[in-house]
Amino acid sequence: MKTIDTFLTGIQAFLKTSQFTAESSECAHYAQDWSNVLTPHASAILFPETTEEVSCILKMASEMGISIVPSGGRTGLSGGAVAQNGEVVLSLSRMNFIKDLHLGALTVRVGAGAITQAIHEFCEPSGVTWPVDFASKGSSCVGGNIATNAGGVRVLRYGNTRNWVLGLTAVTMDGVIHHFNGELEKNNTGFDFRQLLIGSEGTLAVVTEATLKLAPLPRTRAVFFFACADFSRVIDLFSFARTKISSLSAFECLDRACLEITMSHFNLKAPVNMGATSPDALAPQAFVLMEVENASLDECSEWLGEIFETGLVMDGVMAQNDREARELWHYREGVAESILSGHDVHQEDVSVPVARLTEFYSEIHARYEMAFGMKSSDKNTNTNSITQTHSGLNAKVFFFGHIGDGNLHIFIQGPANVPEAAHHLGTTSSERAGFLARCKAVDLELFEVLKTFNGSVSAEHGIGVLKRHALHFSRSPAEIALMRGLKSVFDPKGLLNPGKVLP
Ligand SMILES: Cc1cc2nc3c(=O)[nH]c(=O)nc-3n(C[C@H](O)[C@H](O)[C@H](O)COP(=O)(O)OP(=O)(O)OC[C@H]3O[C@@H](n4cnc5c(N)ncnc54)[C@H](O)[C@@H]3O)c2cc1C
Repeated sequence: MKTIDTFLTGIQAFLKTSQFTAESSECAHYAQDWSNVLTPHASAILFPETTEEVSCILKMASEMGISIVPSGGRTGLSGGAVAQNGEVVLSLSRMNFIKDLHLGALTVRVGAGAITQAIHEFCEPSGVTWPVDFASKGSSCVGGNIATNAGGVRVLRYGNTRNWVLGLTAVTMDGVIHHFNGELEKNNTGFDFRQLLIGSEGTLAVVTEATLKLAPLPRTRAVFFFACADFSRVIDLFSFARTKISSLSAFECLDRACLEITMSHFNLKAPVNMGATSPDALAPQAFVLMEVENASLDECSEWLGEIFETGLVMDGVMAQNDREARELWHYREGVAESILSGHDVHQEDVSVPVARLTEFYSEIHARYEMAFGMKSSDKNTNTNSITQTHSGLNAKVFFFGHIGDGNLHIFIQGPANVPEAAHHLGTTSSERAGFLARCKAVDLELFEVLKTFNGSVSAEHGIGVLKRHALHFSRSPAEIALMRGLKSVFDPKGLLNPGKVLP
């Protein structure tokens, strides 16, 4: 009998038959994440319901030399949850309890499979929230958020996931259950394993439960959408907001191409005037979604007056109610989905010190422009998007991101992503190969530039598989050696999420 069959027979001592499957379509589904560029291949999927079951599974896997890939909502964009080599996927999705909300301690206890948005919905009627928030919150799980130290749209005010986790229950490959930091606010008793696990992308231990820290819900959230002449104006607007508005909670930017594709994908009308203000002026090239907490209407009117008077923006609106606020957020949160829809997309998620953003943007924008060319018609219509035409490639570059955190997403949309069987109807494999080769060449330039800016090759999406080759641009050889040392302490046989993070 093959080892995997022996393993699946063995786990029946503690799992019900409804808690595992080796069915091929289920395996293909659970072995893939949102990055959708790696070929999935898993041997089986397990659905434990308790920490004790996770412990038994890992102990048996370790004894039999079976590799395990921890899996949450699979919304990751770096291939961290992808099983490519016949590993067993450990889906935490059934461990989704949310309980023990404590308003004095401002904490809540959750299972690793609890959906991010469900935690918000559980807490918010009590006037508190877990302030980790982003577009994929309806599908991502708290275990995945912790494993990737997720950022999101309110990092500017609240910081990353790391700031909002008080204690962790986690299981190492030897099956030992650890309770890291309990529920203690203060605990200076040596190394903090909780913080070490946050952001380790499932390579050190499997997170099964967590005690999360909560914040009071803001009394009000004012949401603005602005049209700016160009990216340097966006940074001027950010400087204004940073110095004048103490409760700034989000400052997100999208270029014209992002706004246009989102409007077209969701069939939305323009939120602001997108045309030129005079015949000889250019139309706005960059747009900002800004959110401010707990501000009075008078304060908002005063800021708006100053923003318009000083010419920081070409047009702007402020949401008048919650529905309008949600609608304005949709222009920003719908960007990734709109670009990804039906196309091969090469993604970058980089960060540089906020003080050097304008300099960095103009440097890399020029390089992407050179690599992918610019259609002359784009210039006529004042479109900032970059569309390559001269070598048959049909690629379009989009810039957007959490500008307030120095974090820029660069998505290069390639040929239509059609199933292999239907290639004669659309993309050919040579088109796809040409697109990927061009993207990889530009990546190297981007990483070299990032190094000179002391930037990060992965601001919030993690390293996973897709950014593994770039780790050394942001981490020194000595740091990578320390990482390897830690990995061998936690997982000496290298069976937990093998091939992820470390080159
Ligand atoms: C439209 C869209 C928008 C996004 N916006 C943002 C954003 O603004 N900010 C941001 O940070 N990210 C963003 N992401 C990326 C992604 O949603 C986050 O990284 C999220 O935290 C992943 O959670 P998940 O449950 O889907 O994890 P998965 O994709 O399932 O897994 C991610 C990694 O965590 C590991 N893992 C999962 N569960 C566990 C566990 N219980 N124990 C140990 N390891 C585990 C996996 O092995 C993998 O390495 C976005 C993604 C999409 C599709």
